[in-house]
Amino acid sequence: MTNLVLFGPPGSGKGTQAAFLIEKYNLIHISTGDLFRYEMSNDTPLGQEAKAYMAKGELVPDSVTIGMLRNKVEKHPDAQGFIFDGFPRTIPQAEALDALLTSMGTEVAGLISLDVGEEEIVQRILLRGQTSGRADDNDEATVRKRIAIYKSETAPVFDYYQSKGKGHSINGLGTIEEIAERLSATVESLS
Ligand code: AMP
Repeated sequence: MTNLVLFGPPGSGKGTQAAFLIEKYNLIHISTGDLFRYEMSNDTPLGQEAKAYMAKGELVPDSVTIGMLRNKVEKHPDAQGFIFDGFPRTIPQAEALDALLTSMGTEVAGLISLDVGEEEIVQRILLRGQTSGRADDNDEATVRKRIAIYKSETAPVFDYYQSKGKGHSINGLGTIEEIAERLSATVESLS
């Protein structure tokens, strides 16, 4: 089983690159942001709970997020591997993911971070906001808050995996194909 964490700030291109990786390596894509948006669009209790946090650019509480992630993973007992996109975003989420995968007899093969500078990210997200229909992509203050939370809560997850020899980063600037090339090279270097 090859389990990858696709990492990086909001707007770094994780979703775009995940689409390429799932195809190439036959992995199941789990994006917690997409899962929350699906729950919201169906107005489920989980969606209602997540909505206020997402609109403010804040993280949904770990207990809610981890439970949702676990349910989704458990729906795919025959998966060849997973690509986690937008998860884990906190150290407790990383610990929960490791515990879950250990209980399945597997582990994270590697975390790959897409490195993109802050101003580029803000511009990309605001541009995406013109068509994505996402309220959290439209307002610059909310976008900057998401980036600040990324730095304080999420960036430590990179160090957590790096200390286990599993943290990798690649340049997230360039064409979709160039970045996909860099990602493939990194995936293939994982033991
Ligand atoms: P994303 O689509 O990954 O940018 O996520 C959009 C929003 O969903 C985030 O700003 C959070 O409010 C929420 N969210 C997504 N994934 C997580 C997570 N792993 N932990 C907490 N909140 C999350």
